[in-house]
Amino acid sequence: MRHDLVMYTVPKLTDYSAASINSESRDLLSALESEATVVNSENEYKVFRDRWLARKDGIATQINDLWLKPAPKEAKRDAGQLVNELKKKIEETVERALQHSKGGASALRLAAERVDITLPGVRRPIGAEHPVIKTMNEIVHVFRNLGYSVSEGPEVETDYYNFEALNFPPNHPARDMQDTLFLAGQDKKGQRDRLLLRTHTSPVQIRTMELLKPPLRIVIPGKVYRNDPPDASHSPMFHQIEGLAVDTNITFGDLKGTLDHAMKALFGSSVKTQFRPSFFPFTEPSAEMMVSCFICGGSGTRGTEPCRPCKTTGWIEILGCGMVDPNVFEFVKHNGYDPKKVSGFAFGMGADRIAILKYGVDDIQLFFQGDVRFLQQFG
Ligand SMILES: [Zn+2]
Repeated sequence: MRHDLVMYTVPKLTDYSAASINSESRDLLSALESEATVVNSENEYKVFRDRWLARKDGIATQINDLWLKPAPKEAKRDAGQLVNELKKKIEETVERALQHSKGGASALRLAAERVDITLPGVRRPIGAEHPVIKTMNEIVHVFRNLGYSVSEGPEVETDYYNFEALNFPPNHPARDMQDTLFLAGQDKKGQRDRLLLRTHTSPVQIRTMELLKPPLRIVIPGKVYRNDPPDASHSPMFHQIEGLAVDTNITFGDLKGTLDHAMKALFGSSVKTQFRPSFFPFTEPSAEMMVSCFICGGSGTRGTEPCRPCKTTGWIEILGCGMVDPNVFEFVKHNGYDPKKVSGFAFGMGADRIAILKYGVDDIQLFFQGDVRFLQQFG
């Protein structure tokens, strides 16, 4: 509504001659038309409608009160007819303004939403696999091809699954606060029910053996937690991938053959493997497996420089493994894992460490800082 113009007001009518009445009617209709043409929105329409049709003091009511009611007897009939015609005109115009306001609003919206289809599009950057996830997927893929399936489990574990059922003696140093992140407020619980952040993916071995009868071949990728302050080679959160095979007559020869094949699939057919005796509570015998350095080809040097990843030895320690300790099977004996009837091997490796070696990254923290500039290099 244009408030800069003097708004039309209904005059009192004293002269009821045809000329006077026609002139007043023309003024009113011209005001009606000019006000109607500037109604462009719903709000403007409402103001317009109320001004002309409000029951109490709208202009239609006013002409009734100011023109018809005071009309002298002899002019009453003509005045009544005129007022009725004017009212009809007002109603029609208000209705037309309503339609126009709808059209006006949608026209305004259309204008606001207009898109310049000649502009070039906004390119969305395409994400890529994180190097650690990519490494884990590659390892899973190698074992999938050997008939292994994937098992997963909770990151908040009980003492029972994380330690007890894996043959950790009660005084094992790994149970100490120094190495394990325990959840607070667990003091009232018995030791085996106390919650902690799993320190390895091995609890999933027990959980899976409770669910599935032998034979079993699984790999277990996942996050694990240790009370290690972060530095270039340590992180309180890191990734492991672990494997377990249980069947009748599984031997250390199966373990060596499987892992040798897996390392050749991962690092190239020319790598060699080597096993050295080690100790883990849940395997017996246990071994550390080394692969010949795939960076220097086992020579220990890169040109005239010493090879840092293998510390010039030509070998890189890559995983821990061993034959499943019969004591571990005792915990799942009820589900078909009688240590007298079945045997198995298990292995575990740090996915972050393998990613570090594969991609020549010198600081494990870079994987977890979320710096896009770092991550883009692997996209
Ligand atoms: Zn090397």
